[in-house]
Amino acid sequence: MNENDIRRKIVSTAQAMSTLGLSPGKSGNVSTRFEDGIIITPSGVSYDAMGTDDLVFVKMNGEVTAPRLKPSSETALHLAVYKAHEDAHAIVHCHSPAATALACAREPIPAFHYMVAVAGGKTIPLAKYATFGTDELAASTVTALETANACLMANHGQIALGKTLDKALYLAGEVETLSGEYIDVLKLGRPHVLDDEEMDRVLERFKTYGQQKT
Ligand code: 13P
Ligand code: ZN
Repeated sequence: MNENDIRRKIVSTAQAMSTLGLSPGKSGNVSTRFEDGIIITPSGVSYDAMGTDDLVFVKMNGEVTAPRLKPSSETALHLAVYKAHEDAHAIVHCHSPAATALACAREPIPAFHYMVAVAGGKTIPLAKYATFGTDELAASTVTALETANACLMANHGQIALGKTLDKALYLAGEVETLSGEYIDVLKLGRPHVLDDEEMDRVLERFKTYGQQKT
């Protein structure tokens, strides 16, 4: 894909995130790796009004050259996650309602359903609270992402990584679905959490599940 195609794909992913109801208002941000940096959505711009020229290229060291618009306030978060996850090529961060509700209750998602393994671990972890847009939030999120490709962020929302923008958006959608289901189970008052051995089996089966196309 050339730069224009990549920019179009970021905008369409961000708009899909918005129309799917995953990012109320102007919340959330989307990025992908590009050359020696990343291309990321601008700060505080409505998704329906966003164009490819509004996106901002930021070097891996945080340098931005004459941007037309300010890059996302969570640029440091995206950069830190890419540095910690070599295989991540795309990031979707959003304030999807159910995931955000759990994150505000500071409840990580245990293995209440086998699909928790879709994020590559045995739980969907919770990143410790830090103010939005700070290096502290970047650090706490990187720590939470040590055991999964997605996590909740206390009193904030969720973040999902992927090899492609489609995969990162898909994972964010799965985290939202699992969050809603877990909230329902909590209302019933008796979540039954799958044990470690079972989740090992599930993670093993996930390696060959589906069509295995990249
Ligand atoms: P930006 O619009 O600056 O990307 O911020 C949205 C957000 O979700 C902050 O955490
Ligand atoms: Zn946010």
